[in-house]
Amino acid sequence: MIDLDHAATTRLLPEALETMLPYFTEYYANPSSVTSAAAEPKRAIAEARKKIAAMLGAQSSEIFFTSGGTEADNWALWGTASSANLHLPAGSGFGGHVVTSAIEHHAVLNTCAALERLGVEVTCVLPDRTGRIRPEDVETAIRPDTFLVSVMAANNEVGTIEPVAEIAEAAHRHGILFHTDAVQAFGHIPIAVRSGASGNMAAALEPGGLSDSGIAADIDLLSASAHKFGGPRGAGFLYVRKGVRIPAFLRGGAQERGRRAGTENTPAIVGMAEAAFLAAERMEERAAAERALRDYLAERLLHEIPGSRVNGPPAGNRRLNNNLNMTFTGVRAETLLVLLDMEGIAASAGAACASGATEPSHVLRAMGISPEDARGSIRFTVGSDNTMEEMQEAAAKIVSAVRRLRKT
Ligand code: PLP
Repeated sequence: MIDLDHAATTRLLPEALETMLPYFTEYYANPSSVTSAAAEPKRAIAEARKKIAAMLGAQSSEIFFTSGGTEADNWALWGTASSANLHLPAGSGFGGHVVTSAIEHHAVLNTCAALERLGVEVTCVLPDRTGRIRPEDVETAIRPDTFLVSVMAANNEVGTIEPVAEIAEAAHRHGILFHTDAVQAFGHIPIAVRSGASGNMAAALEPGGLSDSGIAADIDLLSASAHKFGGPRGAGFLYVRKGVRIPAFLRGGAQERGRRAGTENTPAIVGMAEAAFLAAERMEERAAAERALRDYLAERLLHEIPGSRVNGPPAGNRRLNNNLNMTFTGVRAETLLVLLDMEGIAASAGAACASGATEPSHVLRAMGISPEDARGSIRFTVGSDNTMEEMQEAAAKIVSAVRRLRKT
């Protein structure tokens, strides 16, 4: 299988697997246990927290491990909504207002919809044609009762890297918390959670580093997920800036300093930290490799398929290096995906299947792309485990599949 669906998930890095194995077999003790066997898992979790915090220029005490990006997003939204409504009498429902974007992942959008049903009002800011959210539109949407601005760091369908620093500044000018869903960005581009931060990722943001695509912003809450950067599925974290008071989302035991209950998934946490460390170490090299693969594929397809177009920002200009989203006019993406799957190529349509009917991507629609063109759009996301030979084979197969579909 030629995997061109790395934004969906990635293969676990062999180094991460190696690091995880002893925590399944030898050091399996419950880290919260009082026995001496708990010492090693406890130490390993503390070290993992330190490694991840260092990548963001954060403090270890600001990192809270979760079951993934979805939980981190849910916690950020429910948590801030709960805090904002603490003054209300019990049972009176929620109030207040959230500003988010129309191109967020459903982990954010569906949580916003659930909050709306409880009485929170939500404004979804529309992007421009390239998927960029304009900071001035976010600022205009802010109201006196807004308690949170939540805008993703990079979009999962079209790869747009959002102007997070300016959006965070706009939120803070009004004294409002800023959350970013960095699930597609963390481990792929340098991110520092303080605009004047230090840390190994902040160094990459220095002139001469990966500054073009990096983010250095004053972020209050940030969600990330291990399986998007070579870590295991089912692990992630929420960064919560010191001083931000949000209640626990999962209640129970006193794990994660009483803010996220549940026995720690030691192997997954350790594997995530190792994958994050390697992602940081290899970031520049991997970015260049992914860009070369992606650009080759884009050029071949644009050249050989009439009526094809790239969606999202121009390559290199605040766009994730692994992402290529294309419209092939007159073609149904889901039919093309089935054909490609039969040819051994995995890609994605970015379309949500609801009760049998395929809805065109909410991201492409929000960017102003017609329903018809959105239905003919495919997301290819490369990874550094892809080769140029795979791109040549994939390009030839995609061209021939589109030709076949256009004839039928
Ligand atoms: N946010 C974004 C932008 C994503 O792309 C995804 C996964 O595709 C998620 C959140 C959910 O993350 P997880 O799969 O770890 O729950």
